[in-house]
Amino acid sequence: MTQSGLHQFLRSKTAPPGSDEVEVTIFGPGYGECILIHIGAGRWIVIDSCRRHGSKTPIALEYLQTLNVNPAEAIQLVVVSHWHEDHTSGMGDLVAAIPKAKVALPNVLGGKEFRTYTRLVSSLSGQMDGKGVVEMNKVFAELRRRPADKVRIERPVRDQRLLEFPATKTAQNCEGRVFALSPAPDDERAFVDALIAKIGELEAATTVGTLQKATINHEPNDVAVAVHVLVGSIAVLLGSDLEESGYPTRGWCSVHEIHSQFQKASVLKIAHHGSHTAHHEGVWTDMCEPEVLGVMTPYNRGWKLPKKSDATRLLGKTQDLYITASPKQKKLPAHRDHGVARLFEKVAGKPVPIEPGIGAVRLRRSAAAGSPAWAVETFGTASKVSEILNDLA
Ligand SMILES: [Zn+2]
Repeated sequence: MTQSGLHQFLRSKTAPPGSDEVEVTIFGPGYGECILIHIGAGRWIVIDSCRRHGSKTPIALEYLQTLNVNPAEAIQLVVVSHWHEDHTSGMGDLVAAIPKAKVALPNVLGGKEFRTYTRLVSSLSGQMDGKGVVEMNKVFAELRRRPADKVRIERPVRDQRLLEFPATKTAQNCEGRVFALSPAPDDERAFVDALIAKIGELEAATTVGTLQKATINHEPNDVAVAVHVLVGSIAVLLGSDLEESGYPTRGWCSVHEIHSQFQKASVLKIAHHGSHTAHHEGVWTDMCEPEVLGVMTPYNRGWKLPKKSDATRLLGKTQDLYITASPKQKKLPAHRDHGVARLFEKVAGKPVPIEPGIGAVRLRRSAAAGSPAWAVETFGTASKVSEILNDLA
């Protein structure tokens, strides 16, 4: 059912990219983000995980299966950019399904402070929203299950190579590499300090109210991994939820300092759902080509992103700007997603078509030097930002 659902959603546009073609597909259901990149010769990398409403399967697996691609063979690398729920939904199942792939996990998520924190939050589940924590625990459990010689973990830090891949006979232009641009050491330290403080609060909390206050779900995304992908002559910059605080040794400032090592990108996955807290002018001028193709996912819970002012600011940088869903889009709470179809059916007494539950922006382009610009396709709830400007608050 899940597969035919996605099939319908893609409206039969299910041919995989050509062997020498680069694809960047950004999925975002409104709350959540997952990016797939074809790096040539049937090889894929995945950054973060989310699911379609009504499906239990991670969207990365659903999508590749729909393209007739075997994820277990095709995915070379999965990056867990950070642990927040909107970037990790289904990550445990995704990692379990791709035993040969490298898993890139920020160092601080493997440390004892994060383990203590996740243990505390897990023991309090039901009283707090700890789904990101639950997913991270699934990932850790899966990696522990593997024989030691089969575990391939990368610990991304600023300026670290995560993957290198050669050209092949059928993908002669697809030599390339994937680099982590963050986190910077100062961001890692700040994250661990924040964890230690939160652990203290959790241990001292005596009521549900004080427990809820002690979650760190909405703290700055200090350890988010931004990624630079180079395939042949094509560069793509993926901003994750990395933020900018103005400290020279942290966030985008620290990334910008090493910008000259990296080719300017023709695609930018805009950081942190377009928020002004992730804006760094130098990223646009020094890390992206002029009129770069920008794509973002919204954050449509609580503090909604992007704001109208964010979208206007970003449109001032590039008119070629897409979003996977409008932040205003009506949706059901995530914890009811799996039962949505059944629930609707029960109430109406017959099958009811539900919203596609996800939007995607798919970009494809030949990896050859001087190839024509990206071909853009939008699916489901995705659109140009200029078309939904009036939806934004
Ligand atoms: Zn996010």
